[in-house]
Amino acid sequence: MTAQARNTRKLHVVTHGCQMNVYDSARMTDLLRPLGYETVDAPEGADMVILNTCHIRERAEEKVFSQLGRWRKLKEEQGGRMMIAVTGCVAQAEGEVLAKRAPFVDLVVGPQAYHRLPELIAAAHRKSGTVIDTDFPAEQKFDFLPDDAAPQGVVSFLSIQEGCDKFCSFCVVPYTRGAESSRPAASVLAEARRMVAGGAREIALLGQNVNAYHGEGPDGTVWSLARLVAELSEIAGLERLRYTTSHPNDMEDELIAAHGTNPKLMPFLHLPVQSGSDKILRAMNRKHDAAKFYRIIERLKTARPDIALSSDFIVGHPGETDEDFAATMKLVKDTGFALAYSFKYSPRPGTPAAGLPQIEVAVKDARLYELQAELRRQQYAFNDSKLGLTLPVLFTGPGRHANQQAARSGYMQPVVVEHPTDLTGQICEVEIIQSNPNSLLGRLVDKEKRAA
Ligand code: SAM
Ligand code: SF4
Repeated sequence: MTAQARNTRKLHVVTHGCQMNVYDSARMTDLLRPLGYETVDAPEGADMVILNTCHIRERAEEKVFSQLGRWRKLKEEQGGRMMIAVTGCVAQAEGEVLAKRAPFVDLVVGPQAYHRLPELIAAAHRKSGTVIDTDFPAEQKFDFLPDDAAPQGVVSFLSIQEGCDKFCSFCVVPYTRGAESSRPAASVLAEARRMVAGGAREIALLGQNVNAYHGEGPDGTVWSLARLVAELSEIAGLERLRYTTSHPNDMEDELIAAHGTNPKLMPFLHLPVQSGSDKILRAMNRKHDAAKFYRIIERLKTARPDIALSSDFIVGHPGETDEDFAATMKLVKDTGFALAYSFKYSPRPGTPAAGLPQIEVAVKDARLYELQAELRRQQYAFNDSKLGLTLPVLFTGPGRHANQQAARSGYMQPVVVEHPTDLTGQICEVEIIQSNPNSLLGRLVDKEKRAA
């Protein structure tokens, strides 16, 4: 056995929640690779398991404790040898509670402190009990993460902004992820170039409030998201750009205009509005009204008429009446969404709305049912509207069945194409011959055409 093989340790990571958590999990594995940790698909026999958690809604928290229960048994079976770490937003919000309720957990690390994992692991080996690091350190996490990230593939995610200063009444993000901060543009550009060299053709820029991006540029000025997107577009080999998640109040003119002028910026935007009622938007502390959202959509459609829209909605926020919910339904019908996520309001401890009188569960259920039926109808109609069209799609890998290739349209729709050979990484023209609720079926028309 070589010394290297002897030192190899097995790492199993489970990720809950948003794409930013998926990105963070990948960076944690990058950080631990030089220490000999190799990722494995199952927790059995692992030396270390990491649960990267989400605190956005209640069910996410329950999932944490049931997952930890399963790992506790495994740890016991392995004679206590398996190190258990909990990271992410539940770790941040519930650090002490977690250590009390699940004392078999070795490490609790907040989302701004995971660059310290190697030293925290060493500390956990030295000490009994749970090591907790939920600081918001002064140093920038990104300065401490290794450059040699494992390639993510044709579609890669790049975190450029974290945290939030907006304090919506319902949301834990400002408390768990901390104050809004942007990564310097040079570090973003360098990571994007490495991603493209590793095979990425599409990059999705990530941030809790991505369009509030205001990173320091290499020229010493502050760069907006529009400026960053323009500079990223210059990278040869990078064909497609997206960004998520945006706030309506940060949809600046330059960014809206870029949707009409930058062919690399995909015609799809996720812009959460949460509610169509001005009264509820005020109660949510969103600091915009429905009219402002309508105006932004109108301007986006003027800049890029085929832009596909996506959003987030919450039903049953404290104070929401039938009239308020009807205003949300009106906004949905007026706007038309290609995709949308909708949630029942879930009181999050420590947030302002949690202390208000709550809406009955049955009312929330009924509203969510009605909203989701309309959103589903719109999604199907959007997919149907592409039938017979020829679209550029990016091939992302083999499909589920033999002779099938998986691809994605500029509008974020999964597209399946019957084709015997691997087309991964290519952008080709495909005629849409069938529309399904969640995907499209296409026929290859022409190879290697550029995406519009
Ligand atoms: N920053 C984004 C924005 O401004 O809308 C959203 C970030 S949040 C991580 C993702 C979505 O989760 C929100 O848009 C909201 O719809 C939903 N969400 C957040 N807190 C929630 C809560 N307490 N109950 C239900 N849904 C919630
Ligand atoms: Fe949460 Fe988004 Fe509101 Fe910030 S802007 S508090 S992340 S919902």
